[in-house]
Amino acid sequence: MVNKGSINVADEIKSRCDIVDVIGRVVSLKKAGSNYKGLCPFHNEKTPSFVVSETKQFFKCFGCGESGDVISFVEKYYNLDFKGAAEMLARDYGIDLSNAFLDQGNKKELYEINREAAIFFFKAFREKDNPGYRYMAKRGISHDTLHQFGIGYADEEWTSLTDYLTGKGIDIRTLYELGLVSRSDKGRYYDKFRGRVIFPIINVTGNIIGFGGRIIGDGEPKYLNSQETRVFQKKKNLYGLNIAKDYIGKDDQIVLVEGYMDVVSLHQAGIKSAVASLGTALTPEQAALIKRYTKNVILSYDADNAGQNAADRGLDILYGEGIKAKVLKVPEGKDPDEFVKKNGRKAFAEAIEQAIPFGDFKIDRIKAQYTLSSDEQRAACADAVVQMLADLTPVDADIYLKKAAADLGVSERALSRQLENVKRDSEQRRFAKDRDSHERSAAIDKNEMTLLRLITIDKKYAQFPDDVKDKVFKSRTGAGIYQALAGIQESDYPLTMERLRSSVEEEYLQDLNEILDIVIPADREQQAFDDCIRFTRKRILRDRADEISTQMEMGEGTITSDEMRALQAELFDIQSKLKKV
Ligand SMILES: [Zn+2]
Repeated sequence: MVNKGSINVADEIKSRCDIVDVIGRVVSLKKAGSNYKGLCPFHNEKTPSFVVSETKQFFKCFGCGESGDVISFVEKYYNLDFKGAAEMLARDYGIDLSNAFLDQGNKKELYEINREAAIFFFKAFREKDNPGYRYMAKRGISHDTLHQFGIGYADEEWTSLTDYLTGKGIDIRTLYELGLVSRSDKGRYYDKFRGRVIFPIINVTGNIIGFGGRIIGDGEPKYLNSQETRVFQKKKNLYGLNIAKDYIGKDDQIVLVEGYMDVVSLHQAGIKSAVASLGTALTPEQAALIKRYTKNVILSYDADNAGQNAADRGLDILYGEGIKAKVLKVPEGKDPDEFVKKNGRKAFAEAIEQAIPFGDFKIDRIKAQYTLSSDEQRAACADAVVQMLADLTPVDADIYLKKAAADLGVSERALSRQLENVKRDSEQRRFAKDRDSHERSAAIDKNEMTLLRLITIDKKYAQFPDDVKDKVFKSRTGAGIYQALAGIQESDYPLTMERLRSSVEEEYLQDLNEILDIVIPADREQQAFDDCIRFTRKRILRDRADEISTQMEMGEGTITSDEMRALQAELFDIQSKLKKV
């Protein structure tokens, strides 16, 4: 996917953006020798193992293994694709990429058309009296806030925008592709947004990617969004993030709301870290995007049933990304927009303080579905709670198990035994799935196969020298078959095909057949075994040598000279061992 244009872009950007500067904006870096060091933004850590090399223009984390250049850092950190990252850096460092991407040129044109449309809506909203402006003013949104969000108005006519943009020479089919116009059965084009307040949707790189339109007064649908286009992917963007991103760091928190109006109202009230998912339930991509900025997420959804259900699902999605969100309970059953308007920023900030941790919220919701005075229903409720706990990390499960037991008046012991049962079942399923995926990535090699073949001939070959013992089988398949073979008693030898097949799990049978096809002459068995062990030793040493070299190269200046000497000594030692093996 990296075409010639993109390579030029990468070179251009890398030569103009200093990686230390780019990363230094979001990670606090300390000079350490010739490199810089800081806390890794891609995993949780207390002591810095994230190294940035100015000379190599490269970063590497020795904790989680993430590494790359300035562009891949921006991609990962801001959850952008290559083009998005390149654009962001180009804009921040004043690099002209206008001729760089062929396809990008096309996208740029689409952004430009969206911008034209936004200006058209904006002018209609500003320049004369209109129902859109009256509506927003009535809802208490100030002139400044409206301006900041670029709110506009689409009039009731059928072709105002269509006429305006085609008059500028823009092809009607492009407008259709962008979702700015609709097409009738008879093939007539007309404005998609009519009689609506328009909310331009802007991504973090500052491009207008789509629009949301709210009906004025009654009517359906209440909200209308641009459809998915080449420049607009709902599930990967959040409304308001283009503004909120500059404030999230300060509060170290995001307030996640349901709609455009909530975002606008909260920003006006001074809650500047409010963002909304775009007319859909929160997606894992949006959760991953949020995580790049903060792990403190407050869900503030509507008080009605639909809103609370959405909050419940949102918690699960966020938990899946490692975020333990909280849910804000707005007093008096109000929506966040109404509440903040009536009670102001301070009351909202207090409500944030009181936000309910995800586990408590989920248990409360489960409990609300049962009549707990009935023993039968109480047992059913306990079952439901256990199902929920099974999806949590062990520590979280433990915390909420204690709470739930007390709440439901059942013993912790009973609840935890039930949890064990549920987890065992789901773990077995997960294990089977994991194994499938691992098998492909770490396929069994010739050396492992020969060793396994030897073990099927004589049990004594299942014993390995101490120095290689736990490192012989690198592949999941090899380890799985070895485990099965090691479990067979010596008295069962010589093994029949039947005995073998019944010991090894079904998914390994095909590999087992291949292994059994290997022919080793009886007088060569011991020699074959020794060769395999020698090969394993070499492999282990080579892996370690690679690890040390990378560590020395990247760690230069960040590890003490004693550590460096120790690594050098180990490497030297490995090299002489390799010669001997
Ligand atoms: Zn890391």
